[in-house]
Amino acid sequence: MNLASHYVCDDCHTQVPLRTPALLCEACGGLLEIEYDLAAADPAGIVEQAAKRRDLGLWRWSALLPDAEPLHLGEGDTPLMRTRRLGRHVGLPNLLVKNDTLMPTGSFKDRGFSVAVGFARSIGVRQAFTYSSGNAGASFAAYAARAGIEATILVEDVANESKISAISLTGARVLRLRYRSSLEIFAGVSALSEAGFYCFVNFINPVRHEGMKTYAYEICEALDWRAPDVMVHPVGTGGGLYGAWKGFRELHRLGLIDRLPRMVGVQPAASAPLVKAFNEGKKVAGRHGDANLTVAQSIAGDAPIQGGSRVLKAVYESGGRVVAVDDDDLFEAMRLLGEEGVSAEPSAAASTAALLRARAQGWVSERDTVVSVVTGGALKQPSALARAARPPQGTVRADPAELLRIFREGIG
Ligand SMILES: *Cc1c(COP(=O)(O)O)cnc(C)c1O
Ligand SMILES: [Zn+2]
Repeated sequence: MNLASHYVCDDCHTQVPLRTPALLCEACGGLLEIEYDLAAADPAGIVEQAAKRRDLGLWRWSALLPDAEPLHLGEGDTPLMRTRRLGRHVGLPNLLVKNDTLMPTGSFKDRGFSVAVGFARSIGVRQAFTYSSGNAGASFAAYAARAGIEATILVEDVANESKISAISLTGARVLRLRYRSSLEIFAGVSALSEAGFYCFVNFINPVRHEGMKTYAYEICEALDWRAPDVMVHPVGTGGGLYGAWKGFRELHRLGLIDRLPRMVGVQPAASAPLVKAFNEGKKVAGRHGDANLTVAQSIAGDAPIQGGSRVLKAVYESGGRVVAVDDDDLFEAMRLLGEEGVSAEPSAAASTAALLRARAQGWVSERDTVVSVVTGGALKQPSALARAARPPQGTVRADPAELLRIFREGIG
């Protein structure tokens, strides 16, 4: 049984039938959200069904997703790993890493795009677009290719060449986007959406965070139906953090968990509009900083879409916060994650970087169960990987005598 019932507008509460390619509210321009008939749900049945269908990845939660064509590339069910040295290093013995670098296109974006593109396909969308700093584009392009949807990706000029190449490999149309501020991007994508072009940009599209909800389901299931105390997620638009929060709230309403985690968002200090808004106690974020001044390309933007209002609301309601990290901390976090066997691009290491000083800053305690999400793999941004890496210890000829001498002197 599928419980998704309709869209509802955040602002004027207008209801819109679900199986239409709706984006923003036509009455007032507000954000739409998919509502579920949770009162009719059988929580124990949902959990039991999901436990039996592990081969389906995140689609095993279909009762709590909109009805969609299951475009399966292997998304979901990424490991939630107990850390070894890292947890001790930051003073959090119950630190867990959710490794979403193992998603099909190498970033957590596949949670949202698998569901949103599958939904779009099931309601007959044939052409669509998004903008991206790289990872969203690669994910959208891959699922659109599987769905037979003609995809156009407006790629931000901070995107690196590897990401652009990965997008083009799918046959998608790629346009490089020139702009001075993220606000110009939002004006452009809003105009296209209002003109009827189906848009996959977070929040304008009301379906992507339905896929990102599955974070909450997977994490609480792995913790034996307990929520963590804190979930830390890097934030660009905030779609990932907001999606997870929606998932935790649904589990709470279903009675499957008895409390909610504090949601912590992380941005690069060089462009941290949500951190600024949070520190000033504001509900809407304006512009801050310069996205070109950080290595964290995937979370660099001088303004969040729609003023980041939903993200800030989630952070305030949960008792969480938004914190800034600088590039040196990102490189250190990449090395610390590497020592756990996890390779992260700088933006993906931001959640871990935020924890380096969290104990000293006082927003986590050693008793907290903390989930730090690693959102994308290091190979996504080869130049940053090279900067984070330690140089090789030396060069040696493939000569048995020389190798034996060096190893006997203390290597190996
Ligand atoms: C997109 C992205 C983020 C930020 O996600 P939002 O939903 O835009 O907040 C974080 N990390 C990586 C690796 C990403 O690709
Ligand atoms: Zn409205």
